[in-house]
Amino acid sequence: MLNIVLFGPPGAGKGTQAEKLIAKYNLVHLSTGDIFRANIKGETELGVLAKSYIDKGNLVPDEVTIKMLEAEVEKSTNAVGFIFDGFPRTTPQAEALSTFLESKGTSISVMLALDVEEQELVKRLLLRGKDSGRADDQDESIISNRIKVYNEQTAVVADFYDAQNKFQKIDGVGSIDEIFNRLCAVIDKHKVSL
Ligand code: AMP
Repeated sequence: MLNIVLFGPPGAGKGTQAEKLIAKYNLVHLSTGDIFRANIKGETELGVLAKSYIDKGNLVPDEVTIKMLEAEVEKSTNAVGFIFDGFPRTTPQAEALSTFLESKGTSISVMLALDVEEQELVKRLLLRGKDSGRADDQDESIISNRIKVYNEQTAVVADFYDAQNKFQKIDGVGSIDEIFNRLCAVIDKHKVSL
């Protein structure tokens, strides 16, 4: 299997690139943010809980997020691989994912970390907020809290994969196709050695 963690701060372009990557490599896209938003729209119990965190730009608790992610993986029994987008966001999530995938006889192949500087992120998120209607993209104080949460709780997840020689930093500035080509180059190199 080819299991990719697509990593980076909010606004780094993970969702955009994930859409292109799943088409090229036939992978299943699992975005925890998208799954939470679908639950919020459907007014499920999980959605109500998630909304109280998402609206402030805070992380949904690990236990809830991990359980939800694992249930989503279980649904795709015939997948040739997954793109995890927005997950793991904490070290306990990374550890849980590792244990879970191991129980399925597989593992993360590579973490692709999109690198974009903070000023550019804020600019991109505010622009996205105008089109997407996402409340957490429209308020600068929520955006800065999300970036703070990323720096304080999520950035460290890169070390988890670096320690396993699975961390690859990708320049996340440029055109969508330029960035996509950078990602594909690393994946293709990696696939040869799988
Ligand atoms: P995203 O669409 O990835 O930007 O996620 C939107 C929001 O959903 C985040 O700001 C968090 O509140 C929540 N969220 C998404 N993924 C996770 C995760 N792996 N762990 C905790 N909270 C998450």
